[in-house]
Amino acid sequence: MHDALFEAYGPQHWWPAKTPFEVILGAYLTQNTAWKAVERSIENLCAAEALTPAGLRRISLERLRRLIRPSGFVTRKAPALKAFVAMLDGEFEGSLETLAAMPTEALRQRLLELPGVGPETADAILLYALGHAVPVADEYLRRIAVRHQLLAPSAGRRTIPYDALADLTRRAFANDALGARAQLYNEFHALTVAVGKAHCGRTARCEGCPLADDLNAASSF
Ligand code: SF4
Repeated sequence: MHDALFEAYGPQHWWPAKTPFEVILGAYLTQNTAWKAVERSIENLCAAEALTPAGLRRISLERLRRLIRPSGFVTRKAPALKAFVAMLDGEFEGSLETLAAMPTEALRQRLLELPGVGPETADAILLYALGHAVPVADEYLRRIAVRHQLLAPSAGRRTIPYDALADLTRRAFANDALGARAQLYNEFHALTVAVGKAHCGRTARCEGCPLADDLNAASSF
């Protein structure tokens, strides 16, 4: 799937941000929100010179709520962003480099303990902001995995858990060189978002989809 999508769409150059801290802001702001709205929030933060840990530290919670209003859920997202900076200051001397130097599993666990951080946000921060080789899963990958019969919800469950999707990606790239995996995970997640937006939304539009051949092969089993 990675190869077919890469051939169709080319490199995606993710994450769309200028700095690791901007990636982190975007990972929080994009929760349940279209990227266009996130861009408007990022523009507001940029105009307020709040696209850095120091900038975000300086502005009040109330002002932060106003600046990120385009992304919605401000009563949850604004305190969550402040909590991230408080952790960075309190435990890592305000340094993203020091934070990134933690071992992957311990760092993931610490991120998951923060308010407003679920597995998808934690993994997006790990991969795209902090350079750790972890796969990122989302609703687009969930749809593709189900429609291509790669995974099915276990008995009594309505959906596939996040960790099962991430593990599916991990196993798919298990034979690739360790040093290449971060880039493969990076590209694969971006490519699944691209095909999800173009073809695999709530309703599948399989005609012309780069993964249509794989779908036909899966349904012939
Ligand atoms: S649109 Fe169809 S072929 Fe494309 S990824 Fe979705 S299910 Fe597969």
